Amino acid sequence: MRENIYWNPYIETLPREKLKMLQLKKFKRILKWAYENSPFYRNYYQSFGLEPEDIKTLEDIRKVPKIEKDMLREVQKREPFPYGDILAVPLEEVVAFRQTSGTTGVPVYQGDTWQDWEWQTECWSYILYAQTYRPKDRVFFPFGYNVFTAFWNAHYAAEKIGCEVIPGGVLNTEARILKMKELKCNAFLATPTYVLGMGDTALKMGLDPKKDLYIEKITCAGEPGASIPSTRKRIEEIWGAKVYDHIGATEIGAWSFGCTHSGLMLHVNEAFFLVEIEDIETGELIEEPGRQGKMVVTTFDRIAKPCIRFDSKDVIKWADHTCECGRTFRLIDGGVIGRADDITKVKGVLLAPTAIEEVVRSFPELSDEYEVVVTKKGDIDDITLKIEIKPGYEGNQKEILARLQNDLRLKTNLGYNIEVHPYGSLPRYDVKAKRFKDLRKH
Ligand SMILES: [Zn+2]
Repeated sequence: MRENIYWNPYIETLPREKLKMLQLKKFKRILKWAYENSPFYRNYYQSFGLEPEDIKTLEDIRKVPKIEKDMLREVQKREPFPYGDILAVPLEEVVAFRQTSGTTGVPVYQGDTWQDWEWQTECWSYILYAQTYRPKDRVFFPFGYNVFTAFWNAHYAAEKIGCEVIPGGVLNTEARILKMKELKCNAFLATPTYVLGMGDTALKMGLDPKKDLYIEKITCAGEPGASIPSTRKRIEEIWGAKVYDHIGATEIGAWSFGCTHSGLMLHVNEAFFLVEIEDIETGELIEEPGRQGKMVVTTFDRIAKPCIRFDSKDVIKWADHTCECGRTFRLIDGGVIGRADDITKVKGVLLAPTAIEEVVRSFPELSDEYEVVVTKKGDIDDITLKIEIKPGYEGNQKEILARLQNDLRLKTNLGYNIEVHPYGSLPRYDVKAKRFKDLRKH
């Protein structure tokens, strides 16, 4: 008998028409819930003259006003502390506190009920099962178990599937590697930056991750790297493991995942989330593949702090094919391409930071670290790319820089001031890397 590859065979292969009807039903349900239980949502919708009954079709969903991250911060100034009146359940029902990293401003606090928390674990079960996690696996979690959402629900999902779960919380990187080796763990989850950093550390400890460790698969999250071909290739080469990607966010949930067949594409979990893609400038709905826009997302089943038509500013695009795995969930192409705030015009050319990463990581002579700084000199934009050359390649610096300049120009249509920094001197990141700095805005 063929092994079942789906966590939920019925839902994951639901014909598209039925899936869309399910989405409409769930959208109406969460909208009504928020209107009746969250003062923030009720006041907001009333100010637009919108009643839940106005939404009768999928097309009507576009009439529902969007929310933005700044609004989520603003609402926190009101009672009940610390979430504000967006909360749609009594405070006593909140059991889990998490928060966003705050890299783009004041952190957003996320309160979840026990039902929400279990639901998030269910979302992650779809992801891990699609990425071949099974009861035989011994899975290591090398992340700080703290106020950030990170891999908390992935931890519980791995347990729910039946994997053996090793929490590598307060250990440092060396100790984590030794623990993974000692216990012959065959899978782990981390940000792409940290996965590369662990590989580097293992090599410095005299261990070859490919030969001396037992990792067969790695699930990445938190940064776009695993959907960027050169970064994924670099991880696969260092670890000799299959790399899977996932995208989620604290305010939204774990909304997408790669499977065994999807390559650099990711499925949107459409049973739990409604993903709309909008043209960044005109706001027009994009249904066709290949055209990039920003994601507006609705979380159907999270009740404490509903997330309805959230303008995520994440730039994505639909893929042009369905997946061979048989899942009917639609694919996006290449993960999150950038942030609508980050994708910016430099010298009049649209630039996505991931394009720079793709070029830099395709150079085996360069380290994993880099930084991009955009400034203004007079009226003219100026881009500086800081890189490190790996030991042993310094003699070829001139030739490497010429090739890098050329590849960057081909990929992004822009010229760069390339600064070579001593190996190991650029900032290292354990959590989300902040490599793109646009200083023109300040
Ligand atoms: Zn698939």
